[in-house]
Amino acid sequence: MTAQIIDGKFLAQKICSELKQKISAFNDNSPCLAVILVGDDEASRIYVRNKQKKAAEVGINCRVIELSSSIGENALLSTINELNNDPDVHGIIVQLPLPEHLDKQKIIFSISPDKDVDGFTPYNNGLLSYNHHDAFISATPKGVLAMLQSIGIDLRGKHAVVIGRSQIVGRPMGKLLLNHDCTVTITHSHTVNLPSITQTADIIVSACGQPQMIKSSWIKDGAIIIDVGINRLNGHLCGDIDFEDVKSKASYITPVPGGVGPMTVAMLLANTFEAFLRQKDHPQHHCCHGHDCHCSK
Ligand code: NDP
Repeated sequence: MTAQIIDGKFLAQKICSELKQKISAFNDNSPCLAVILVGDDEASRIYVRNKQKKAAEVGINCRVIELSSSIGENALLSTINELNNDPDVHGIIVQLPLPEHLDKQKIIFSISPDKDVDGFTPYNNGLLSYNHHDAFISATPKGVLAMLQSIGIDLRGKHAVVIGRSQIVGRPMGKLLLNHDCTVTITHSHTVNLPSITQTADIIVSACGQPQMIKSSWIKDGAIIIDVGINRLNGHLCGDIDFEDVKSKASYITPVPGGVGPMTVAMLLANTFEAFLRQKDHPQHHCCHGHDCHCSK
C-alpha cells in the first residue's frame, strides 16, 4: 500500500478562495486581525509575515503590533485591553512564544473571548469541552479536522491517538475528535510504551515535536496519519512522522511542509471572518472578566 497524500496546501488554498469571495461581499467593511508580536524571535517573525500575507490575499486587514522584548506585563495587558475595546478589530492573537518574564497565561486570558480567534482562552476552551457551536476552535486542531473530513471518512467510533497534550494542539485536538465521536487516547512524554498504543490507532495525530519519531512499525496497516510536527533535522524541515517509512503502510498521510501548516493559517483567517460576522450582528458582549481583568466593562 502507498498512502494517499492529504494536500494541506491545496485544501488551504480552496478554503482561502472561498473566504475571499465571502469577504468581498462586505465591500464597505473588512475583517481586522490584530497580531501582537513581542520581541524579535526570528521564527515568530516569519510566521507573522506569512499570516499577514495570507490575510491580505483574502481581504483581511492584518494589524501587526510589534512590541519590544522588554515590555512590561501591564503595558502588554493595556495594549490588549485597547484592542479588546476597539470596534474596528475583530480578532486578536498573541504570537507565541513570549519572553520569559511575561506570564503567558495571564496575557492570553486577557483577550476578549469574542476576539479570541486562536481559541486559547478558558472561555473558548470550555465551550469546546461542552461541544458548543459558539467555540472558537484553535486553528491547528480545526485544520486537522478539516483534513480528515476532506477524505470523507466516518470518524464515529474510530480510535484516534493524539501524541502531545499542549494547550494549543494536543488537548483541543483530543476534545475535537471526541466531539466527533472518535474514541480518543491522548499521549505524552510520560506515556508508557507509546508504540503499543499507536499500533491500535485508526487515526494518529502527532504533535510532539520529535523529528521522525513515528516509524512504520508503530502503526497498523491502513492507518490515517496526520503530522502536526514542524521540526528541523539536518537543516531540513520534517514532521514527527518518518514520512518515507510510514507512507508504505498508511492509507492517508500529511506531508511536512505543505500539510497541517497551511491549514492552520487558513483556519485562523476563517475564525477571524467568523468573529467579524458575529461582531457585526452582536457588538461585543463578553469581556475576559478574569483575574486581574483589565476590561473597562
Ligand atoms: P509542546 O512542546 O508545547 O508540546 C509537545 C507535547 O508533546 C507535550 O505534551 C509533550 O509531553 C509531548 N511529547 C514530547 N516528546 C514526546 C515523546 N517522545 N513521546 C510522546 N509525547 C511527547 O509543542 P506544541 O504542541 O506547541 O507543538 C508540537 C509540534 O507541533 C511542534 O513540532 C510544533 O512546531 C508543531 N506545531 C505545528 C503547527 C502547525 O501549524 N503545523 C502549529 C503548532 C505547533 P509532555 O506534556 O509530557 O511534556
